[in-house]
Amino acid sequence: MSAKKIRRLVIKIGTKVLTSADKTLDRERIKEIAEQVSTLKDRGMDVMLVTSGAIGAGMSMLGFKKRPVKLEELQASASVGQNRLMHVYSESFRAKGYAAGQILLTQEDFNDRRRYLNIKYTIESLLKNKAVPIINENDTVSTEEIRCGDNDRLAALVADLCGADKLIILTDVDGLIGEDGKIVNVVSVFTPKVYKLARAVSCDMGTGGMATKLESAERVTQAGIECVIANGRKKGNIIKIIEGEDIGTTFKSASVKILARKRWIAFSSRPKGALHVDEGAKEALLSGNKSLLASGVLGSNGNFASGDVVKVVDKDSREIARGVVNYSSSEIAKIKGLKTGEFKALVARKGRDEVIHKDDLVILSAFAINT
Ligand code: GLU
Repeated sequence: MSAKKIRRLVIKIGTKVLTSADKTLDRERIKEIAEQVSTLKDRGMDVMLVTSGAIGAGMSMLGFKKRPVKLEELQASASVGQNRLMHVYSESFRAKGYAAGQILLTQEDFNDRRRYLNIKYTIESLLKNKAVPIINENDTVSTEEIRCGDNDRLAALVADLCGADKLIILTDVDGLIGEDGKIVNVVSVFTPKVYKLARAVSCDMGTGGMATKLESAERVTQAGIECVIANGRKKGNIIKIIEGEDIGTTFKSASVKILARKRWIAFSSRPKGALHVDEGAKEALLSGNKSLLASGVLGSNGNFASGDVVKVVDKDSREIARGVVNYSSSEIAKIKGLKTGEFKALVARKGRDEVIHKDDLVILSAFAINT
């Protein structure tokens, strides 16, 4: 994509990009990134940041030598670190004439459409008013159930939400490394082979690894957004990417966009449970544009209501699809395995024929979503 076509850009900055060798916040790095972002804003581009680094910064300030395991210690680190992180961003942007606007989000903000739209309006308003939206997970209140997951995922959610043209994921490696040990320049299609290149690297300060970056890259490309994974510790890389230089790995946007509602089912919402299906149903779902019927359902787990998003899993517990279910978990217990004509009398209310209608169902690449 050429420079003039990029109107709206989301940049995700990982903890490792923002942390010095002594594990404290790298102020110079943040300053240099803010300078690049300000240059793009001067040129009229809308730029939003999704930043990690709060827990990392807070850890060193509270004296934790490695990432705490206890939730409350992580939350305390985030509380102290987020403040520090924003202070450095604010100073760096102020020096360039821009304000830094903090937005802290949880998964619940994406589940509820009203809240979802509110985030969008706040972002738009910041962009209109010479400010840079700086987004992070609200780690001080996030518990496992309401977490977005990791900031790679959060960045993809934000890029989709605000209609970005491009997502740049900055990390401490030069891009996706191929089998030959060299950086893969371009990925046009997400195949299991591409996912194999990602070795899940665990990090002692942030979360995520190349696998979560690939999942996010796949998600945004399905929304028509190009994605680049590149080294954020190298000076000037953001500008170079925007100016079309061959930096990092570029993931081309998909030629066929998945509809917004299906993207929300597959990615933005959080599944409330799972339906286990037999081999016949699996085959029908994977090979054709079919709905899921009660006759193919073996059982379920989780506590869900009609209208919730659930996973569809095969006999090996592999997730094959996600969809909006028409029956609650207690109704599923009664109707599983039955033909459509047989179960109507067992369910008190008048429900649909399908357990999940094909319009509310998204088939997933087995490697793409495993959360
Ligand atoms: N929200 C976390 C932080 O600011 C980072 C999560 C992640 O790196 O994925 O420290």
